[in-house]
Amino acid sequence: MTYQRSENEVVVIGAGLAGLAAAQSLSQQGIPVRVLEARDRPGGRVQTSRLWPDLPVDLGATWIHGTDKNPLTTIADAAGTRRVVTSYASSRWIDADGSVLQYGGALKPAKRLLKRIRTEIEDAEADMSLADAVRQSRHWQDASAEDRALLRKWINTSIEHEYAADWEELSAWYYDDDKDVAGADVLFPEGFDQLLPVLMQGLTINYGTEVRALAPRGAGGDIHLADGSHILASHVIVTVPLGVLQAGAITFAEPLDRRRDRAIAGLRMGVLNKCYLRFDRVAWPSDCDWLQWSGPVAGEWAEWIDMAHVAGVPVLLGFNAGVQARGIEGLSDAETLAAAQEALRAMFGSDFPAPIAAQITRWAQDPFALGSYSFNGVGTRRRTRKALAGKDWDGALVFAGEAASPRYCGTAHGAVASGRKAARQVIKLRRRRSSAPGTRSESATLGIH
Ligand SMILES: Cc1cc2nc3c(=O)[nH]c(=O)nc-3n(C[C@H](O)[C@H](O)[C@H](O)COP(=O)(O)OP(=O)(O)OC[C@H]3O[C@@H](n4cnc5c(N)ncnc54)[C@H](O)[C@@H]3O)c2cc1C
Repeated sequence: MTYQRSENEVVVIGAGLAGLAAAQSLSQQGIPVRVLEARDRPGGRVQTSRLWPDLPVDLGATWIHGTDKNPLTTIADAAGTRRVVTSYASSRWIDADGSVLQYGGALKPAKRLLKRIRTEIEDAEADMSLADAVRQSRHWQDASAEDRALLRKWINTSIEHEYAADWEELSAWYYDDDKDVAGADVLFPEGFDQLLPVLMQGLTINYGTEVRALAPRGAGGDIHLADGSHILASHVIVTVPLGVLQAGAITFAEPLDRRRDRAIAGLRMGVLNKCYLRFDRVAWPSDCDWLQWSGPVAGEWAEWIDMAHVAGVPVLLGFNAGVQARGIEGLSDAETLAAAQEALRAMFGSDFPAPIAAQITRWAQDPFALGSYSFNGVGTRRRTRKALAGKDWDGALVFAGEAASPRYCGTAHGAVASGRKAARQVIKLRRRRSSAPGTRSESATLGIH
């Protein structure tokens, strides 16, 4: 068995935003740290494709959601990146028959209905799925078919796409138990991945290094890699996605805290997928950031970003979330394109051109993500995420990542905040360990020869 003797080092598993932010904070304190990453690139669920030289496209995270006091704003400023504001207020809503709705006015009944239903949900005796809660609501039952259809569309846009989950899966009480950040939504026309170098400065990152198992070893951790070798560390920060933890892709030699185990089992991994379609020309009315469509299947191909409006290139970006996203992931590229094309022809007419190129994501099938981001299913909430975050095995293990961010779960800024918090915990633990009376050197404590 090959052991790499790095027992004074902190090892961070995962070079996504949480892992990089944790490693950067430790490194800035002079603590030796190494990042292990299964992929051959940094960023994790931040991934920019440069297949189209004139338009880098983000396959994972797109926006800084809320720029005010957002750690990503500081990082983006340091990186000197260009940002473009997009807004839901700049939306063209297209009805099933191709007619265009007025964004503000037409949605008012749906918003009003949802507000009333939410009051009923708060008074319910138990948590249930959002879909059940809505269907049981007196206000829903009394609403006209037209208002129900509009509300269903509004729930898809404002809830299912935001939380990457179907209304049948989301907790009625806690689906939005996270906190919004004030400020605009901004995206990066030159790619979200421009932020990564700011976090990576001076870090040691081992790519192509898949972790398979973790065991306590003395006061630290023993990390088993897929190639059969081991690395020893003073502390291990685990930032792999919730989906990876749930799949048991990393095994833990000693039991984890029971509340953490329950959090891993209870929280849910959602799916949001993207389909970028490139055309030879702009063949649609390009006067808004968003195109919203109420097609025959609620939520399918319902939301599009007009990259011509946002970035000046004839590209449409279609989103699918939850059950639709999972279903479409099962299609071949040709079938996916045919389905998207059918939707666009229903929206803009039968002579709508075919795309000349496409880029399609399948995050649920990505073995190092197994989904897009986490959401609160029935019975899970902020408290569940607090149980996931934090230390285990007497501090040898610390958990971080978007799913472990109680207030900002499911976001890029939540991942950064969670990584920094994990680093603060490790700094404290190392100080405590080094000031403990009679502390032997870590190498002696680990008993490695
Ligand atoms: C399609 C999509 C759109 C999104 N849009 C937005 C958005 O607009 N705004 C926003 O704020 N957020 C968005 N998000 C969410 C955001 O991308 C994530 O919350 C954030 O990037 C997660 O960072 P993380 O460090 O927690 O996890 P990750 O980025 O997943 O990092 C974990 C790392 O662990 C690695 N890993 C996994 N298994 C192993 C293993 N066994 N051994 C070693 N390494 C391993 C992975 O390869 C990965 O690099 C989006 C996500 C997706 C997928």
